[in-house]
Amino acid sequence: MSYFRYFLSILFVMMLSNVLAQRHFDKGKSMKAGTVSQFLLSVKDGKHEAGLPVKVIKGINEGPVFTIVAGIHGYEYPPIIAMQKLMNEIKPEQLSGTVVIVPVANVAGFYGRSVFYNPEDGKNLNRVFPGREDGSISERLADLITREIITGSDVFLDIHAGDGNEDLADFICYYDHKETPVQTALARKLSDESGFKLKVRYPFNLKADQPSEYAFKQATRQGVAALSIEAGKLGNVQPEAVDMIRNSVMNMLASMHMYKPEKQLKPEKSNWLTGQTYIKSIVKGIFYSDLKSGALVAEGQSLGYITDLFGNKLTEVTAPVAGLILYKIGTPPVLEEETLFCIGYENR
Ligand SMILES: [Zn+2]
Repeated sequence: MSYFRYFLSILFVMMLSNVLAQRHFDKGKSMKAGTVSQFLLSVKDGKHEAGLPVKVIKGINEGPVFTIVAGIHGYEYPPIIAMQKLMNEIKPEQLSGTVVIVPVANVAGFYGRSVFYNPEDGKNLNRVFPGREDGSISERLADLITREIITGSDVFLDIHAGDGNEDLADFICYYDHKETPVQTALARKLSDESGFKLKVRYPFNLKADQPSEYAFKQATRQGVAALSIEAGKLGNVQPEAVDMIRNSVMNMLASMHMYKPEKQLKPEKSNWLTGQTYIKSIVKGIFYSDLKSGALVAEGQSLGYITDLFGNKLTEVTAPVAGLILYKIGTPPVLEEETLFCIGYENR
């Protein structure tokens, strides 16, 4: 064996030991300052095993834990690709605090090329939070993320895109949780400094016995400053969405005094959309609409129509409010009760 091959085999063993599955994650507390670690957190049900990839960048200086999750929906590629860039870009020797990155939370959905759902149990991971320790594989993954990834984070950022069927205007959002004013104010400040032109604030009105369903709503409920980004659409990798995600994370790390990026990009003007109206489909059928995400619509304006499989018109869709199309279904099939449009507006 040549020296080079010997070196390669040693390197391979080192890499293997570095990605060994583990059960518990201490947010990098046991790591040496200025180092990087990567591993899989593993969960199993009777039939399936899921490994949650985690990369930890521990800064040379003390500071907060900033956690980023991509790929809760495995067909939403711009966040996943942005994390591939960021993981190698953030230098621990220039970092204060710890950046935790889950580059793809729903690995089965990613490799299964599945819109919304985990093909192994047919569940939408972003509807089962806080999860169940004894549930199906998606519920166990949600439970793992709740316990090991959200808990102990100072900031939790969950990044999505328009899924394979969704046309979406890029935006950043958070919940207006009045019971945790410090964390809510931080989420608002990070939204303001993220560089996104569109910022959305949702009301937080979960009852005590209601499940949070969404990862960043669960983080909000747990008292973590939580945000979500939506950037990119229709199952493509838009380079400008990847850049937007990357730049916004850098802007937020700079705002937290955790990192000094080489370049910081900010738009000149941004808008808050604090009201949201969801238009649901009343029928199953073929959806037609000439409008694109980001378009402004007037109250009562025709937004599109739905036909049956024989081409007969079943229903017209009109705007109940004036506002901006935050997202809409961008492909022909629609199901009953599905959200056709989300219209955002300034709620005075
Ligand atoms: Zn998503």
